[in-house]
Amino acid sequence: MENSAIISLGSNIGNRYDNMMMAIKKLTSRYDIQLVNTSSIYETDPVGYEDQALFLNMVIEVKTGLGSLELLDRCLDVELELGRKREIRWGPRTIDLDILTFNQENIKHARLIVPHPRMFERAFVLIPLLEMKPEIKFFGMDKPISTLLDEVPDKEGVRSWKRKNGEDVFEPIGN
Ligand code: ATP
Ligand code: CA
Ligand code: CA
Repeated sequence: MENSAIISLGSNIGNRYDNMMMAIKKLTSRYDIQLVNTSSIYETDPVGYEDQALFLNMVIEVKTGLGSLELLDRCLDVELELGRKREIRWGPRTIDLDILTFNQENIKHARLIVPHPRMFERAFVLIPLLEMKPEIKFFGMDKPISTLLDEVPDKEGVRSWKRKNGEDVFEPIGN
């Protein structure tokens, strides 16, 4: 399990919470992807295409023996298994799994760009990521994540929905 990846999850169709938990379960059901850490869950106003339901968003960290493209394929498989359809760009979806980082690599493949090119402008990604991994560093980026977040608009569109610890606990996921 030599590789470390951070994946963002988003859902705004059906039982959003169940969709996210099911996606994590499916993703980590085999020996080759292991769950390391999770953020809390946030409810967020849609960005990009605004005429749609609120999202739940979170990030997770995994360890994996898979390569980056193999991990992408597993993510896309899980999306399909959960009934993801691609119709409107940035439109409603049962589950969206984006690879944010893969080790500290800079990947520019036709099917995979890492770090995820739009993550730095998205409060719904940076807020859970800052919570889960405040010390994270990105390829080619000097700024700490807290500074990146300061520069991002629409932070008020991201609200804590289920804390990882505290009153409204969600069950630790996986095994
Ligand atoms: P966005 O990428 O802006 O968040 P989206 O998640 O709605 O939009 P999708 O339709 O889910 O976009 O993905 C389209 C394609 O993006 C995928 O089939 C995949 O090949 C490609 N892709 C490129 N880089 C990544 C990445 N880091 N993580 C996931 N998919 C990626
Ligand atoms: Ca996405
Ligand atoms: Ca995606």
